[in-house]
Amino acid sequence: THNNMGWNFDNSYARLPERFFESAEPTQVSSPKTVLFNKQLAEDLGLDINELQTEKGTAVFAGNTLPEGAQPIAQAYAGHQFGNFTMLGDGRAVMLGEQIKPDGERKDIQLKGSGRTPFSRGGDGRATLGPMLREYIISEAMHALGIPTNRSLAVVTTGESVMREIKLPGAVLTRVADSHLRIGTFEYAARWGTEEELRELADYAINRHYPDIEDNPDQYLTFFREVVKRQAELIVDWQLVGFIHGVMNTDNMTISGQTIDYGPCAFMDVYDPATVFSSIDVQGRYAYQNQPGIGQWNLARFAETLLPLLHEKQEHAINQAKEILGEYKDFYDDYWLAGMRKKLGLHNQEEQDEVLIQGLLDIMEEHNADFTNTFRALTIDKPEKTPMHGTEAFTDWFQRWQERLSRQEKSKDEVHQLMKRSNPNVIPRNHLVEEALEAAVQKGDFTLTERLIEVLSSPYAYTDKQEPYTELPEPSDRPFQTYCGT
Ligand code: AMP
Ligand code: MG
Ligand code: MG
Repeated sequence: THNNMGWNFDNSYARLPERFFESAEPTQVSSPKTVLFNKQLAEDLGLDINELQTEKGTAVFAGNTLPEGAQPIAQAYAGHQFGNFTMLGDGRAVMLGEQIKPDGERKDIQLKGSGRTPFSRGGDGRATLGPMLREYIISEAMHALGIPTNRSLAVVTTGESVMREIKLPGAVLTRVADSHLRIGTFEYAARWGTEEELRELADYAINRHYPDIEDNPDQYLTFFREVVKRQAELIVDWQLVGFIHGVMNTDNMTISGQTIDYGPCAFMDVYDPATVFSSIDVQGRYAYQNQPGIGQWNLARFAETLLPLLHEKQEHAINQAKEILGEYKDFYDDYWLAGMRKKLGLHNQEEQDEVLIQGLLDIMEEHNADFTNTFRALTIDKPEKTPMHGTEAFTDWFQRWQERLSRQEKSKDEVHQLMKRSNPNVIPRNHLVEEALEAAVQKGDFTLTERLIEVLSSPYAYTDKQEPYTELPEPSDRPFQTYCGT
């Protein structure tokens, strides 16, 4: 058989009714160059890493050649952006197809920044290098943190410049995801599709992401509950590491429960529940402390799309959906408490744990403590490294925590191990990411980016080599801001 770089495509999404997509060929680019390539991910996908590191691979990642079996499409979707419903669709992304891995798993392969599609409206369909590197770094860091996410297989520069406020180098990211089904895909179906098309979409999503419930008599209701559960867990995962997504519009929330759309996201440094990084989020709608509530708001929009499938009587359907939506908070609270217990080395449960946890967070907030480094300091048994060390409140809290630890039948080492597994030593700190991107974009030097990716690939390792990456930046008088990635 001839060499196909290991591509083994199926195109199940493209077998959905035509309404759900448009054909969309990637635009040819003049002189593509691969600047990042994820060998481990490529191997996991069953791809030929040697072939992919030649010009042939670069041509695929640039959209200049289509691998055998690919059926390039742009997906249709709608969504609520900052609360307002609108039609969207892949305006700068082309889905090549679904790679069937050697283990049978199915992964969407998508080129982001590969030119205009029927959904581009006024946009150029392009992406620039900085934001594509940023998505690569942060999505891979999230994966290493154990948080469900789409992943990044490669970044190529196109050799063409893209006009933003200034001319910037163009780039294409190859994104790998369980799927790109969004709440917004269902909003699109519910608004413009027939009921039969909506049902086909739901059946497709269930088959792909929740196959265990396929024969369930109440399968659409169960489907809704499963999505509610996964979203609650995902957002808890974010909260536990201080991840702020930044643009939790319904078109950026997946049905699979993976994190998607790394535009203006960033990790919180100083613990402040009101933290917002995105320059366009002037109201703070997507602030750290609002993420759980927005998750539920988004799921309510999802529920509305499913009503026709839940029950023929609308009133009945609404009641059923509301009941499950009400469970969101319980899922969320339970999962959050379980996660916070682990961060403090608590193996068992006590009634007062929530008070203990909240007590620490309050002290952290009062003293502008770094979120990650506070838990890191407790993990490595160096409370003196926190800014609140020596205060009466912290001394009192620390003592209560020690007493609480001594009431569980676990050794010091068992506590330490649990904390190490639950508190990352390193995260993609804003100043480190920015420094790496600047060298890459300004000087074409990817050394810092590659080193950062390497360090972030084992966030719980607590090695000496990671030490410099745990340091905080010099205080700045300019608050850190992110921009919607373009
Ligand atoms: P996002 O902010 O990445 O979630 O994108 C919101 C919508 O804008 C999606 O429909 C995108 O496909 C579209 N979009 C973003 N950037 C571009 C671009 N450069 N050209 C065309 N469409 C875009
Ligand atoms: Mg179509
Ligand atoms: Mg998006």
